[in-house]
This record gives sequence, structure tokens and C-alpha cells, in this order.
Amino acid sequence: MTFQRIVAIAIGILFLLKTGASALAESPVPKLPIPDKLVVLTFDDSVKSHYTVVRPLLRKYRFGATFFITEGFEFKTNKNHYMSWTEIARLHQDGFEIGNHTRDHLGLDATHPENLKKQLAAYPAQLKAINERCKEHGIPVPTSFAYPGNGIAAEALPLLKKLNIKFARRGGSPEYPYEKGRGVAYEPGKDHPLLLPTAGDARPDWELSDFIRAVKQAKNGRIAILQFHGAPDLAHSWVNTPVGKFEIYMKYLAENNYRVIALRDLEKYVDPKAVPADPFKIITERKKLIAQQQQQ
Ligand SMILES: [Zn+2]
Repeated sequence: MTFQRIVAIAIGILFLLKTGASALAESPVPKLPIPDKLVVLTFDDSVKSHYTVVRPLLRKYRFGATFFITEGFEFKTNKNHYMSWTEIARLHQDGFEIGNHTRDHLGLDATHPENLKKQLAAYPAQLKAINERCKEHGIPVPTSFAYPGNGIAAEALPLLKKLNIKFARRGGSPEYPYEKGRGVAYEPGKDHPLLLPTAGDARPDWELSDFIRAVKQAKNGRIAILQFHGAPDLAHSWVNTPVGKFEIYMKYLAENNYRVIALRDLEKYVDPKAVPADPFKIITERKKLIAQQQQQ
């Protein structure tokens, strides 16, 4: 065999290796089938009890969760009620997800176009401020987002996408009114990944039956995303979850073999790039269905 022939074969092998490797890299990652009893736990507003009460309990049960961090409210001055960045970094080191909830807890007000315009204009800086803090503390830049005050707007979707957000969680509204914390499960393919509904938003007067109503929706390809604030939450009494109740809820998930994950873990089951043509269609359909059921 001539030297040229050996070189030609070597180049051929290298070419095959290279194209084979790139073909592999470009093939879509196969997604896991969505099991029943799949629950996403989310905790909003950087509350101190996330570190002191929630963290040890989730670690005991080996549950995943997302903590949505904001420096709003009295984050900078009241360290009795809000976590420090060192504590937030510890949550990341434990394996929990740190999500973005805007620097100032800046909600979107779609009912006032002038306000909304200003709020959306502020969003890049609001999200990037939290991203910077994360980088400073060795936390990956968040790809999950929760709408502050659960205020949503269609105009936010392209903006969040541009800011590298893959999954964004809203509340149980507009399908259900805000007050009682009721909601619906996430239906992959129908719900836009940047408008994921809350199946249950814990309220102080919730009983175990309210919690069960939320998580029981996690079946037939649907995923129950739960929203908590502090356990307890002394600064925001209307979203407080008493410690005893929180312990009962988590015990229920463990004893009933629920799979409990962070919001980012949804990517194992769904493709965040697959979006419905009309993000609000499913919401309108559900509202109609719920109105019909309530008339019966
Ligand atoms: Zn919040």
C-alpha cells in the first residue's frame, strides 16, 4: 500500500468519524414518557423558611424543587425573613434549581397597556440582575422563570425566549380566580412552555384535601406544578403555609410515591421548543369547560 493510499484511507476514516459524531449531536434527545404522579415543586420570593424548613424536609425525601429568587420586597434589609445569597447558593449546591423571579418582583399588568410597556422594557435588566447575582455565587444562569404576582402577558413570551428562559410558570388564573389557589395541571403540547399553569397555589386555609385535589391531576400525560411561598411566610400572610401543613403535604407525596422534580427537569419529558400555534387557546377552552361544569 502506498503512502498516499494510507493517507487517503486515514482521511476517509476521520471524515466518517466526524460526520457520524455530528449526526449524533444533531439528532433530537429522546424524551421520556410522562409518568402518572409527576409533580413539580416551586417556591417563590426567597423566603428564609425555604432554607430553614423546606430544605431539610425536601432533602429527607430526596425531592427536587425550584426556588424562584427575587431581591424585591425587603430582601436587602430584612435578613430574618429573606435568605442570603450564600443560603441560595447552598440550595443550588444541594441540587435544587434556582429560578428567576425578577430583581424587584416586577409583575406584568396586561390590563394597563402603558404600564405593561414600561414593565416589559425593564424586564431584560430585571432578569439579568438576578443572572449576575447567580454568576457571582457560582449558580448557573436560570433557565426557569416565574411571573411575579402571577401576572401574564402575551408580549412577554418572545422576550422571555430571547432572555434564554425555557420554562415559565404562571398561577392558576385565568382558569380559576386567584383567591383560593386552585389551578389546572400542565398539558404538554397544549400549554406553552412559557405559560405553564399552577395546579395548586397553597393558601393558609388549605387542608390536605385541597392539596390532594391539586396533585391528583398528575395523570394521563398531565403534570401537576405546585406553587408555595414561605412555610411559614410571616411577611405575606395570604400565601403563608403553616409548617405542620407543609410537613403533611410532603409526607403525602412521599407515601403515595409521587415523583417530585424541579421545573428544569421537565426537559427530560418535553421539548421546550415545541410550542402551540396559539398559546392562549387551551386557556380559553379550559375556562369554557370550567364555566359549564360550575353551571351543572
Ligand atoms: Zn413572587
